[in-house]
Amino acid sequence: MAGICGVVLKEGNCVNDLRLGTFYLQHRAQDYCGLAFFYNGKLTVKTHKGLIRQQFPISELIDIQANMGIGCVTTDRQPVSELSKVGSMILAFDGNVSNYENLKNDLLKDGSSFSGYKSPEEIVDTVLIAKVISKEASFVDGIKKLLQVMKGDFAIIALTEKGIYAARGYGRKPLVLGQKNEGFAISSESNSFENTGFKVLRDVEPGEIVFITNEGINTVAKINLPFVRYGTFEWIYTAHPASIIDGRQVSGVRAKMGKALARRYPINADIVSPIPNSGRWHAIGFAQGSKSPYSEVFVRYDYSDRSYTPSQQSVRDEEARTKLIPIKSAIEGKKIILVDDSIVRGTQMFNRVKILRQYGAKEVHAVIAFPPLMHACPYGKTTRKDKDCAARRMTIENLRKELMLDSLNYGTVEDLEEATGFSKDKLCLECI
Ligand code: SF4
Repeated sequence: MAGICGVVLKEGNCVNDLRLGTFYLQHRAQDYCGLAFFYNGKLTVKTHKGLIRQQFPISELIDIQANMGIGCVTTDRQPVSELSKVGSMILAFDGNVSNYENLKNDLLKDGSSFSGYKSPEEIVDTVLIAKVISKEASFVDGIKKLLQVMKGDFAIIALTEKGIYAARGYGRKPLVLGQKNEGFAISSESNSFENTGFKVLRDVEPGEIVFITNEGINTVAKINLPFVRYGTFEWIYTAHPASIIDGRQVSGVRAKMGKALARRYPINADIVSPIPNSGRWHAIGFAQGSKSPYSEVFVRYDYSDRSYTPSQQSVRDEEARTKLIPIKSAIEGKKIILVDDSIVRGTQMFNRVKILRQYGAKEVHAVIAFPPLMHACPYGKTTRKDKDCAARRMTIENLRKELMLDSLNYGTVEDLEEATGFSKDKLCLECI
């Protein structure tokens, strides 16, 4: 998983906008971060392990005077530099090369060298992508080639001395354009724009390649794709609720999903509560669509991290175990509907239901927005494996019993169509 961001100002320094715009993508990944700028006549890139605000304090950037740059938060070390046929570029990538080994072997056979990398771990997906693009006569040809040789999906930004190129694959990875009087921006999510003064201009369309300079945003190519698939899970879990993805406000899609669930499963209860934070808007929608009031039985501790995105399972488990604190008075003697975005292995739901039972809940019903997960996502650095998916290992009724729930219900593909406004042939549904 990754969040990528780019800023080009007509004049002035882009450092603050870029640092902040990248920071507002931190929910997408927390392992590495990087910033790259064009200043003093050259491209410069710096990467760190950790979070953007801690690793790039303002004091470290004080000497940089640049009108354009890119930034990213990622699960592997990015952005990466590459010398291409059209000059140097620095690339950041959101996606997954699922045929990594084959593509790397093909590149080696074709004369590419990876000798500059000290260990195989350093040869991340973005390195392969940079090699593919750099061999072609232009960035546009490079993206066309990438669509031929890469299995997976992507959103890419590339900083050059003349401007920022950006491209979106089949649609699973979001990419949105922003504008303000002083310049232009591009980001995985419009959340980057809210506090930096940019207004959402439009999404980069699947198959579209744009070039952003201090004079404006130009579409330099629009590739005819055999199909488009939007990343359904972005609206349900991955993206920030304040973001607008492909014209749909994320919080609004989640609330619609909750309303559809309330219609489908009319359970009366004392409380409709989310598993915070990702279940919150689904739960708000459910409460609006049902006769049961919204309240929260858990408080998410503000200083905890997201439990889905860290790359190590042990870190995820520990975060999931410790991030929620139960409110005893809201639980005791209550019939509770718990609303969450999805269930992967079921361990987190099990731990939470166990706490509710210990604190005296009368009944616990779970309503899950995303239909039962059956597969790892082939399009991102997902934390789950096929065999992790609880719904694959047992029937929903057996899962309900294992989770000590009075009822367990899921959203459907029809609910996803209604909530997103896209028909199922436009939605990626491969993980369900
Ligand atoms: S497989 Fe699932 S998680 Fe992966 S891109 Fe498709 S909808 Fe998103």
